[in-house]
Amino acid sequence: MQKQIVDPLDLKTYPAACLRTKTVDVKDFTEETRGMVRAMADLMYKNQGIGLAAPQAGLGLSIVIVDAGCGLKVFINPKVVKRSREKDTLEEGCLSLPGVGVNVARPKEIEIRAKDRDGNVVSGKFDGLEAKAIQHEIDHLYGKLIIDYMNPVARFISAGRFKREMRKKRFGDTIKVL
Ligand SMILES: [Zn+2]
Repeated sequence: MQKQIVDPLDLKTYPAACLRTKTVDVKDFTEETRGMVRAMADLMYKNQGIGLAAPQAGLGLSIVIVDAGCGLKVFINPKVVKRSREKDTLEEGCLSLPGVGVNVARPKEIEIRAKDRDGNVVSGKFDGLEAKAIQHEIDHLYGKLIIDYMNPVARFISAGRFKREMRKKRFGDTIKVL
């Protein structure tokens, strides 16, 4: 059995300060780093998310994980190096904003450069839901949330819904929770 070196992580929800704090790059790729990635994956799967960024677990590091149905992908210190001009819109949810769905227009295709959990440089092109999820998670590394894409009226209307959902902590079936 694998020794648990990082305690289970808790999900942080809005307005936790860690969600608005820019992360720092990971410099050392140790067993602890890999343990954090495993603990993040446990937290994401437990909450049925398809992506999670370290700030959502209270960690101030540039780590993003995504599993949009094609297996777990780990991006450490990720950078978007190319984005398609063409955008499309998806109603996105966020594990840190229970009950809130926001239509967000993002580039359809992106190219990412990052490191894996062993510190090797990795790159890849992504589209569809995976591209959306990766972009959503990278926003978290800069303290950006889906509510920042809302116009002020939509934000006002959803505030009441958000407060109700915070008490219930659940989503409808149609929103992709990232
Ligand atoms: Zn999110």
